[in-house]
Amino acid sequence: VTSQWTERPGSQAALHLSNQRRVLEQLVSGSGVTQAQAARETGLAPATVSNIVRQLAALGAVEVRDTGHGKVLHLTRGAGLVVGIDHGHRHLTLAVADRASEVLAERRVSLAPNLPAEQGLREAERLLDAALEEIDEPRSAVVGLGLGLPAPVDRTGEVGAPSILPGWFGCNAVALASARFGLPVAVDNDANLGALAEHTWGAGRGAESIAYVKLSDGVGAGLVLDGQLFRGRDGTAGEIGHISTDEFGAVCRCGNRGCVETVIAARHVLELLEDHLGPGQSIASVVARAEQGDSACLRVLADTGRQAGMAIASLCNVFNPERIVIGGEFLLSPLRELVRRHGIPSATAGLQIVRAELGPRASVMGAVAIALRTAPLIGSH
Ligand SMILES: [Zn+2]
Repeated sequence: VTSQWTERPGSQAALHLSNQRRVLEQLVSGSGVTQAQAARETGLAPATVSNIVRQLAALGAVEVRDTGHGKVLHLTRGAGLVVGIDHGHRHLTLAVADRASEVLAERRVSLAPNLPAEQGLREAERLLDAALEEIDEPRSAVVGLGLGLPAPVDRTGEVGAPSILPGWFGCNAVALASARFGLPVAVDNDANLGALAEHTWGAGRGAESIAYVKLSDGVGAGLVLDGQLFRGRDGTAGEIGHISTDEFGAVCRCGNRGCVETVIAARHVLELLEDHLGPGQSIASVVARAEQGDSACLRVLADTGRQAGMAIASLCNVFNPERIVIGGEFLLSPLRELVRRHGIPSATAGLQIVRAELGPRASVMGAVAIALRTAPLIGSH
């Protein structure tokens, strides 16, 4: 099966392009990389790097700036723009970035739940046109697109799990989005994208392995192992929200009973507090109340943290990550306590549990990151 996530191997031209990608990746991840650093980091011969840089500069994609401490390479807008889209259950966020991952324009709108895929993409296209107009760039400047969905996505781009994102189930999201936008597209699960972004730019920086735990309308984890996303064969790795902790518990949308998600997903937390707070609340307002000392809100958030802690302890026993990055409104102290209690000491002794740094932007930034990888190389067409 051809995978949307791996490069096709092959010819001399393919080798040149893969070298170019390695050089570009250096420029994407570090601002102000010198030619010598790029050669060291990629392991390519200095002459090879110098050829690639000369070719990129001739195409207007790279600028060489003399800083006084040596010549530093910068990717310019001429290298093309990419689009990242985070399509949630109830929101759509879109970011347009340059190839150095700097976001130039960003838009966010609310969505009706269970929107069919075609309608979601139409909405994304409307946001894209508005964002491009804001920065005065044509559609032709965009060279790649990354899309995040709150459901398992396999290597061909097919969306699995019928009841989790009904509007997209059975669709090939890569095919649908490339047909609509006329661009190369990569699609991944939103928790995976959050993990990728936190690992690249946020609280997971510098760690070899992290688990990024996301709490929103769903509960999931994205896993980075040896610096790479670990997705499993069908893209379902890290679905900790569906660890069952109570055989006779509530029926989950996955079809199982007593899943962690049936206790801690945002909508269930709000349901518990509806009599107390009234309808139409958000997790943010529950946290604000808890901070003011509201005992019911404190109690519910503590219980949520404990349930999450149990699921995270299981994840640590199996996966033994270096760092857990928490993306969502959990109280950290009950969560830490339960991880220590249920985790094997050797799996949790050196474990760091930290808050995410990118907040609700993590998934859209991860979509930008995969868009950068899928964008064709410069001068290749
Ligand atoms: Zn479930």
